[in-house]
Amino acid sequence: MWDGVLSNEVMSECGFYVHVPFCETKCGYCDFYSVPLMDRPTSPLVARLVTDIEGRAGEYSGDIVTMFIGGGTPTVLPISDFRALFSALGDVAGTHKPREFSVEANPATLDEVKMEILASAGVDRISMGGQSWHPSELETLERLHSPSDIAPGVALARRFGIGRINLDLIFGIPGQTLETWAESLRKTIDLGVDHIACYGLTYEAGTRLTSQLRAGVLTPCDENLEADMFELAVEMLRGDGYAQYEISNFARPGQACLHNLIYWRNDMYIGAGPSAAGYVDGVRYKNVSDVGRYVQMIDSVGHAVLQKERVTGAALAGETLMMQLRLNEGIALGLFASRTGIDLQQVCGSRLEMLRGRGLVDVLEDVVRLTDAGRLVADSIISDLYADVHAAEALSDRS
Ligand code: SF4
Repeated sequence: MWDGVLSNEVMSECGFYVHVPFCETKCGYCDFYSVPLMDRPTSPLVARLVTDIEGRAGEYSGDIVTMFIGGGTPTVLPISDFRALFSALGDVAGTHKPREFSVEANPATLDEVKMEILASAGVDRISMGGQSWHPSELETLERLHSPSDIAPGVALARRFGIGRINLDLIFGIPGQTLETWAESLRKTIDLGVDHIACYGLTYEAGTRLTSQLRAGVLTPCDENLEADMFELAVEMLRGDGYAQYEISNFARPGQACLHNLIYWRNDMYIGAGPSAAGYVDGVRYKNVSDVGRYVQMIDSVGHAVLQKERVTGAALAGETLMMQLRLNEGIALGLFASRTGIDLQQVCGSRLEMLRGRGLVDVLEDVVRLTDAGRLVADSIISDLYADVHAAEALSDRS
């Protein structure tokens, strides 16, 4: 095994992420590590993934409190590999009894046999990529499913007792209007799911959508329209009882995604699978993002970690700030200082005061958080504060 960043003495609770790197096809906007399934055999990867899962879970004696199986699309695996994977995951869940066990799914790839396997393994939450209720918008995104797959997917999960359901939606799609966005929100709300995530479409390097944008064959959504879409989502979802707890995430009471909260609070998680990351005892690691090399590394050295670094000082403070400020609960200043060694009010005091004056942040006794107006320009606020933290460290290094 690799050299033991997983120190059981210091770990207590953490999340467990498992990455399944296959999809039916590659969506035009996607920059996650995933490869189209085509006729590719999946058993070699799944066998090593099971080894990786058992190794990660076995070397850890604290509590795994959340499990999240994502990708990729875990539900595209052929049934025998799907069964083998969830048998191993079910064993981990049986030992650790996590408070949440989520699986990502494409609504078109769910069936009764797979749902039975998920339910037997202890899965209690499904996160589905619905994205839009309009065929032309799904086509622009190059999604394989159709709007008519979404409601049956939700009904199937409920029939197997998996009642906690998230639906992802995307706004800012070329050709999307405020009306079609409102309709997608309304139809999703009417399904009664307890969690809805609304992401603005981003043009990531290396994706087909970005190439189309550069070639001028698609017209991006107007920035003001996109901001209106975001505001409409907040208004409609709040009106229907979904609390916004992170910039893009809305949940009924008690239904926030516990696993994603671990990321946003910059807490500990272990990871298995190609491209999966972990963050344990102050050390971040990342597995190789290549199925072939992953298989080779698991066979030859028992792990697939390609990069590993201890995160300290301004890097830790900047990273924690970037993640925690996305949460509506904001940053608890005392906790932040004890964890990072940096007093945020001292380092960013004048900027925070300026942002507070413009109504973009609330600065309370021990908490800094974005306001509704601040969430609309969250990226620029976070990047300015992040720059302040790094500038302060550079200054203290020179003095
Ligand atoms: S289904 Fe999800 S992971 Fe797979 S290509 Fe599409 S967006 Fe990416």
